[in-house]
Amino acid sequence: EVIDIAANLNNMVKRLQRAFPQKIIFHHEMDSCYLKVHEPSFEQLMIILLDNAKKYSEETITLQMVEEEQVVRIDVIDKGIGIPEEAQSHVFSRMYRVDKARSRKTGGSGLGLSIAKRIVDRHNGTISVKSKEGVGSTFTVTLPKGGIA
Ligand code: ATP
Repeated sequence: EVIDIAANLNNMVKRLQRAFPQKIIFHHEMDSCYLKVHEPSFEQLMIILLDNAKKYSEETITLQMVEEEQVVRIDVIDKGIGIPEEAQSHVFSRMYRVDKARSRKTGGSGLGLSIAKRIVDRHNGTISVKSKEGVGSTFTVTLPKGGIA
């Protein structure tokens, strides 16, 4: 179905903010942005990324939506513990967790990002991460404006 992801993200941020100790900021240029996505999957995808930002960072989380030529880009930016270079290519694999010791207190099964990847694939989009240990992480999703093929 076609949904306004700007409105969807706005509502989601409002809802999640109550459960997040840190501030979530949502930047977007367009007031509305219609995309052909499966709404429950899109919400699950964004909640996985925002929930990770919450778990692995204490500072303000920035959610940003940018319209590009062929795609809409969504960035989830945190200033948390970051992910070591050598681990970055594995985080989208099932059950992969960066470091048992540091992850134990936050719980989790290492499934979140593999589910996120599957949802993005189903929408013919992309997901990637840029991160630096001790500095923070940016997860970037792109979704084609054409929608699900
Ligand atoms: P869950 O399945 O509950 O989400 P999880 O967080 O362990 O548990 P993933 O979401 O798949 O699983 O993340 C995999 C690993 O990637 C995590 O264990 C964590 O080490 C690392 N990671 C994910 N997001 C971040 C982030 N924003 N900052 C730092 N590390 C992260």
